[in-house]
Amino acid sequence: MTVVRVALPIPLRVHFDYLCDTEVSPGCRVMVPFGKRELIGIVWQLNPSDSYDVTQLKTVTQVLDQTPVLAAPIRQLLSFAADYYHHPLGDVLTSALPALLRDGKNADPVKGHSYSLTEAGQHLTAEQFKAAKKRLALWQQLQQPQTETQLLEHFQRKELQYFVEQGWAHVTPVLYGPYQTAAEQQKSLPLNPAQALAVTAVQQALGSFSCFLLEGVTGSGKTEVYLQSISPVAKAGGQVLVLVPEIGLTPQTLARFEQRFAVPVGVWHSNMTDLERFTVWQRCQTGDLAIVIGTRSALFLPFLKLDLLIIDEEHDHSFKQQEGFRYHARDLAIKRASIQQCPILLGSATPSLESLANVQQGRFAHLELPDRAAGQLMPTVELVDLKQQQMMFGMAGLTRQRIEQHLKLGQQVLLFLNRRGFAPALICHECGWMTECHRCSAFTTFHKQSRQLVCHHCGATKGVPHQCGGCGSTQLAPVGQGTEQLEEQLQQLFPAHTVTRLDRDSTRRKGSLQQALDQILQGEPQLILGTQMLAKGHHFPNVGLVVIIDVDSALYSNDFRAPEQLAQLLTQVSGRAGRGSQPGKVLLQTHYPGHALLQDVIQNGYASFARSALKERQQTFLPPFMFLALFRVEAHQLDLCQEWLQKVAEHYKNWPQVQLLGPLACPLERKAGKYRWQLQLFAKDRKQLHQSLDSVLSDISRWSSSRKVKWQLDVDPQDL
Ligand code: ADP
Ligand code: ZN
Ligand code: ZN
Repeated sequence: MTVVRVALPIPLRVHFDYLCDTEVSPGCRVMVPFGKRELIGIVWQLNPSDSYDVTQLKTVTQVLDQTPVLAAPIRQLLSFAADYYHHPLGDVLTSALPALLRDGKNADPVKGHSYSLTEAGQHLTAEQFKAAKKRLALWQQLQQPQTETQLLEHFQRKELQYFVEQGWAHVTPVLYGPYQTAAEQQKSLPLNPAQALAVTAVQQALGSFSCFLLEGVTGSGKTEVYLQSISPVAKAGGQVLVLVPEIGLTPQTLARFEQRFAVPVGVWHSNMTDLERFTVWQRCQTGDLAIVIGTRSALFLPFLKLDLLIIDEEHDHSFKQQEGFRYHARDLAIKRASIQQCPILLGSATPSLESLANVQQGRFAHLELPDRAAGQLMPTVELVDLKQQQMMFGMAGLTRQRIEQHLKLGQQVLLFLNRRGFAPALICHECGWMTECHRCSAFTTFHKQSRQLVCHHCGATKGVPHQCGGCGSTQLAPVGQGTEQLEEQLQQLFPAHTVTRLDRDSTRRKGSLQQALDQILQGEPQLILGTQMLAKGHHFPNVGLVVIIDVDSALYSNDFRAPEQLAQLLTQVSGRAGRGSQPGKVLLQTHYPGHALLQDVIQNGYASFARSALKERQQTFLPPFMFLALFRVEAHQLDLCQEWLQKVAEHYKNWPQVQLLGPLACPLERKAGKYRWQLQLFAKDRKQLHQSLDSVLSDISRWSSSRKVKWQLDVDPQDL
């Protein structure tokens, strides 16, 4: 009999021990009795020394795996993450294990077969398939040998059999592992000296842990550096993980990697079915995938031989999970690289202040690409002072003129407005009443096409009222401007040109984002407008002018990270201009042209802004020079929130090394009907902060008031 300590998928910060009468190793799934239910958990430890009275333990009902589904490096990473974020291990596990495995699906690798075309198959032509579209697609796919698993994602087994029966394809056992065909398909570009230095540095670091920050201006060819750093790994049969922001994973990105290397490339994102996820997970584990491009949680994939990690747009906020297990994928990826003893490369035109501080403190090596790759100039930025201007459709006369000029030159114009919908609210012309969400402290956005009022915080929707909720007047009018409205207005102003809108509403339908991107890449002079979706790494060669419609609302904010975020956004959006043969221009509309932040970013660039912002953080004792954690609490009653946080604050009387800010209301005090309050904790010493958290958490679990509120702890919070 062995005592096994099992991690169970439940949000409790405790261990569960069981007896097991068959042989089992850590990382395997077991079925265990839990209350009246049976749960599937992961064996975490054998014979723990601090186990309870063994005679009291229940027995494992079934051992589900012969070999671990979670190998040692992943378990080490998950244990670290659970400790660091003070989050229940069972919940952390849920992030790392595909749903099908959590449900008990057989995890044995589908050591199946590989299909390739026979000579007869190679002599077929596309015409011979005529109406048989599916068969044509299969034949095209088989131009490269494919594993059965890969094919079954898209084709039925009987189709595969048909090809074999016809003598068009033959089947061989799969050789998982090294990619004998890892030659480069598409030629790599000759690197400029800065790129060459970066690639050499990463290649020389292969085989041991090190962390690089690649700071390269927009259009400096960071992707080429990634590709050429990957090349020796793929040739040697190793695996590479490329993490990208939530909406940075376009078919365009994928195509760039697939075109370069003749190795299997997988993707991983939130919009996949359980089966698709499971397949990718397995192909990572068996070594069948050479490169995986994925969002946040791809970080937990079980690679057989992970030799390099890359994080593109490392400053991006989508790397921080904003609910439940609030991990930062960049930070955990660095931990993973250190566990796997491989290098990690973080790339950005606008690196986070955290990463820059790590460079200054010597923890990261700094690689720089100061110029655009193909010799294009950086765009020039012009401020348009909006004070006392004749405005039309939210644009000054000069702005409208410039747009027209650039369209005449045959260029595309990109307009950035970070508010979707038609208007941020409807207002009553008689009494000033505005449409509000009854569950949040926020106005509801008017969406004209869908004839709805939508709360962008809780998602509540309702029909558009005919009458004012205050005085009953029917004089309701949109107030403010959103992308849906600007689209209509641009069509009116420039009827001869296409207007393409890119925001969460216009790209909701599957394939619509790709359609819009294709349309833009055809290069016709046209207007492109959108929200921050536009800021994420797109390469639009024909954009000559970028117009930033409104920054004023972002200039004054309470969040100490707001200036950094605004500087990143301005730089990234501006960076979409002038990436082709023509130099680019940026117009920035504002009522505050003298604002220090705008002046600094425009005149000195992000790199300089970031260094002075970092100094300021140091002087004002803010992260990354202090460590920050945050308790958030939600309840229907305001006083429950305040009392609970007050209790936490009292506990901190024993921790003079930790400074408190709060309890105070969250920026959006009411959301979905609940009040939201927070308590911020700052400490110079990370260890002390974490010790204090351990101590307060064990207290919190004993309070009965903890069951009356919904509370959460956010370590290294990104949004306050
Ligand atoms: P970034 O990701 O840094 O914004 P990209 O990787 O998208 O930049 O590169 C911008 C453009 O420069 C692309 O069209 C790319 O093909 C081109 N490019 C990159 N490296 C080189 C090079 N060494 N020589 C010529 N063109 C290059
Ligand atoms: Zn709401
Ligand atoms: Zn009214």
